[in-house]
Amino acid sequence: MPENDCLFCRIVAGGIPATEVRRTDRVLAFRDVNPQAPTHVLVIPIEHHADLPALAAAAPEVLAELVAVGSQIARDEAGGPFRMVFNTGAEVGQSVFHVHGHVLAGRSFTWPPG
Ligand code: AMP
Repeated sequence: MPENDCLFCRIVAGGIPATEVRRTDRVLAFRDVNPQAPTHVLVIPIEHHADLPALAAAAPEVLAELVAVGSQIARDEAGGPFRMVFNTGAEVGQSVFHVHGHVLAGRSFTWPPG
């Protein structure tokens, strides 16, 4: 069920504009408003799940599709290599509690992350 107070549910429903990159029956990819790399796309399930463990437990096939869509976008836009980040918990930077994979590509990255 969509959640009225969820920013990404509202993007899925079209109530808040976003630059869509891909949409399937189960997954939506759109550009992050504050890009951290030449390609910075958020890939989310259409259905609301709060975070990565919740999605993995409830719908692992949707998680697999989300990863496939993200890697395809990185191939199309940046030739393949990418970093996919799922911030999980406010303490590590999750600010929107509708699970999203950040697909970052098009430049090199350092390790460990900050
Ligand atoms: P996180 O901090 O991991 O929860 O990531 C949330 C991401 O959502 C941030 O990178 C924000 O820049 C991004 N964001 C917030 N609002 C929007 C929006 N309306 N459209 C696209 N991206 C957004």
